[in-house]
Amino acid sequence: MDIQNVMANFKGFNDFGRNPVNGGINRLAFTHQERLAALKFSMLCQKAGLDVYFDFFGNVIARREGRYPELQPVIVGSHIDTVTDGGQYDGLLGVIAALEMVEHLNQHQIETDHPIVIIAFACEESTRFNEATLGSKYLTGKMTRDDMKDIQDNDGNILYDIVQPLAQDMHGKAALFERNNIKAFLELHIEQGPILENKEKDIGIVTHVAAPHRFKLTLHGVTSHSGSTPMPMRSDALTAAAEIILQIEAIGNMYHNQGIVTTVGYANVYPNSMNAIPGEVSLLIDIRGKEVAIREKVVTKIQQQITAICDNRNITYDLNDLGQDQPGTFNSTIGAISEKHCETLRYSYRYMYSGAGHDAMNFVDICPTSMLFIPCKAGISHSPDESVTTEQIAKGIDVLIATTIDLAQADTVLT
Ligand SMILES: [Zn+2]
Repeated sequence: MDIQNVMANFKGFNDFGRNPVNGGINRLAFTHQERLAALKFSMLCQKAGLDVYFDFFGNVIARREGRYPELQPVIVGSHIDTVTDGGQYDGLLGVIAALEMVEHLNQHQIETDHPIVIIAFACEESTRFNEATLGSKYLTGKMTRDDMKDIQDNDGNILYDIVQPLAQDMHGKAALFERNNIKAFLELHIEQGPILENKEKDIGIVTHVAAPHRFKLTLHGVTSHSGSTPMPMRSDALTAAAEIILQIEAIGNMYHNQGIVTTVGYANVYPNSMNAIPGEVSLLIDIRGKEVAIREKVVTKIQQQITAICDNRNITYDLNDLGQDQPGTFNSTIGAISEKHCETLRYSYRYMYSGAGHDAMNFVDICPTSMLFIPCKAGISHSPDESVTTEQIAKGIDVLIATTIDLAQADTVLT
């Protein structure tokens, strides 16, 4: 693996969308800068001798043929888009690592039994369309072309109308793999959390991806004058909200050993004025867990607390369910292969789950899937301050390459 080439690629790709003021990267889905980066990836794939195409959604897919082309491909990839003023490594790490793996195989003339497909996914971040991992959802059949007609960006542009003019006419060219005929999917990503750095580990072998269940809570009190309404005669929606937020935190703390995190990240107060008792408050509640049963137990506890607090305070409420995603369990045989290579390479590692969603979770129900994490400084991500060392990148790519080579051997059986 040529780490100089890898670091040069980071610079090259991040020249697309770099904010000169704060160093943040701006490659929002389907912007000019993001599409140029996708084009650059496709050209580098072509240069590496791969068969490349863009699918209808603009995911870039490239295939390195195996000794036995009829065998199921092993897929490796991540995303090329960013949030607003995002970091240099979120997503791009897994894309550049996949490319470097191909360069490594070419340079050492390593032939694999199975074909290897590398992918740069479009539109993983929810910044523009308020929904995450759309590229991998399209590719795995979880979002159809018709669904795209119902998805809008923050300015009201329809996703289908944005994607359609860019979509490639494949002239009958067959896709480079079939959705339901994949041997394995593997993604390398930065952790975006502080655990690996805290525990001084080089590699995270990811066992689960947690998924959220989200709610909108609207509390109805009575707006009245802050001076002339005596304390016992108030119906204050904001103090009720404060008590509810603290209870949601306390319940999250109670279950955090079982992989639960609870967050109220949004509050809207009406009338939001110094001299009025707040009559209405809306909260957005995000409850995540790696196991549905535990997460839903937490949801029930939170609902009970909301009822109790509102009854006690004479407040009425509406609780709207905003939907839930299924947590994903990754393949333990792939994890064991990565563990074996960490041992051989003398890299420290730990098994862990991911609190954030990733493209990999969309593959869990169609093929054996796994993820590798590397630490990032102070766990900071989605920020210009996102920072990863060259050494950490090199170690992550080493384990990715070694694991993929094993996966692409016909005698590696995944259970
Ligand atoms: Zn990412």
